[in-house]
Amino acid sequence: MSKSEDFLPYAKPLLGLEEAAEVLDTLKSGWLSRGPRCTKFEQRILQFVGTKYAVAVNSCTAALFLALKAMGVGPGDEVITTPLTFIATANVIVHTGARPVFADVEPQTLNINAGEVAKKVSPRTRVIIPVHYAGQACDMDAILNLAQSRGLRVLEDAAHAICTTYKGRMVGSIGDATAFSFYATKNLVTGEGGMLTTDNEELANRVRILSLHGMDNDAWKRYSAQGSWFYEVLLPGYKCNMTDLQAALGLKQLERIEAMQALRRQYAAAYNNGLANLPGITLPRVANDGGHAWHLYVIQVDEKEAGISRERFIEEMKKKGIGTSVHFIPVHLHTYYKNTYGYKEGDFPVAEKAFKKLVSLPLYPRMTMQEVQKVIKAVRDIVGIGSPDGGDES
Ligand SMILES: *Cc1c(COP(=O)(O)O)cnc(C)c1O
Repeated sequence: MSKSEDFLPYAKPLLGLEEAAEVLDTLKSGWLSRGPRCTKFEQRILQFVGTKYAVAVNSCTAALFLALKAMGVGPGDEVITTPLTFIATANVIVHTGARPVFADVEPQTLNINAGEVAKKVSPRTRVIIPVHYAGQACDMDAILNLAQSRGLRVLEDAAHAICTTYKGRMVGSIGDATAFSFYATKNLVTGEGGMLTTDNEELANRVRILSLHGMDNDAWKRYSAQGSWFYEVLLPGYKCNMTDLQAALGLKQLERIEAMQALRRQYAAAYNNGLANLPGITLPRVANDGGHAWHLYVIQVDEKEAGISRERFIEEMKKKGIGTSVHFIPVHLHTYYKNTYGYKEGDFPVAEKAFKKLVSLPLYPRMTMQEVQKVIKAVRDIVGIGSPDGGDES
């Protein structure tokens, strides 16, 4: 079982000949940095999510950071987010000079708890960053109502949530702005890459300008026939633009996104069936209308009931040739956050309790149904329940 070709990695992107051909065409075109394919990819994304503006950048981290800057967040301000997220969500708050404030999660969905957010709002609060954990939408009505009543902006971290819907609306068209990730493990892959979507023209323009040194809007066109050598610098910006090579991948990935999502849903349903009612194994809970993008399939392993610790569970899975991951180490427990802001164990008990049990199983369209069944069998074997009816296939 330790032969590397037998190992099922925790994640692996699905890229085809279409992506390869588009990248080759891009190389032939000579546009290696930001060019027409970035503009086309922005158009396609804004049509897809149903928003007015989209700005392509080099990561979701950059999209979050630039959006906070464009919203005017800085020293003396506070931004509220969930502790159960990737470190990037909180680091970008720190980089603006603002203070990261956390609000605990709901035990069912592991999404930020709007009631907890309300308790953390202060006169310094400027922005709420809800994270659509695993691809399931947060309680956006409650968050938007709170934001409206307290004069706050809502910046959604949708790194897991391309294709997530909330009450029939696509994530990306709901809050003041939304940041997507196209990192190698995410539902739509450009290697590295991100996108900010918004209906706010001024915000979109500011993010675009900040992403390219602070140069005015069409500075990238200066190397094309319509361009001129002249550009104006309006602000000291950053260098966070997407490249056409990334956009080439994104354009072709977007053409196959529905097919990829159908496989994610199918595999999640197979896990729901194959792993139902196992002792000490809690399956992901879908809260309301089920507009789940199934970026992650996160189970919780309860040491007492399952008879195995989460750490040993992960080791046993590895021995059986299956990679897993943990999403996430709560941000407030990282050394920097403890030392700088005085956060400590016990501050966010729901997130901490869940964290100790979390295991993300492999879930991606590059997998086969046989591989999904292999994961199911491994989990059942580890908790001592054996295969579901007839599922054993040597
Ligand atoms: C992956 C991820 C990010 C960062 O995305 P990048 O595109 O790698 O910058 C941010 N937030 C969450 C919740 C993520 O999972």
